[in-house]
Amino acid sequence: MSIFRPDRLPGLSRLPKELGREERPCEACGENTVHILYRVPKKMVLLYLNDHPENVHATCMKCARSTVLTGAERDRALS
Ligand SMILES: [Zn+2]
Repeated sequence: MSIFRPDRLPGLSRLPKELGREERPCEACGENTVHILYRVPKKMVLLYLNDHPENVHATCMKCARSTVLTGAERDRALS
């Protein structure tokens, strides 16, 4: 029996998962730049929660600023 279960290792499950890239307006740059969309786990007491309302972030590739995606943008990133 294998004891290797990647989904149970906190060290792996806490890593943000890249969902894709898209061009979107960046507040800091003041223009449209390419952002990397991430699904970001949230640390709970002993485990990392993948499903929470602020789990999708978009990071600007120019200034490295992150914004939290909500509503329709979040749904689109996760689909
Ligand atoms: Zn930017």
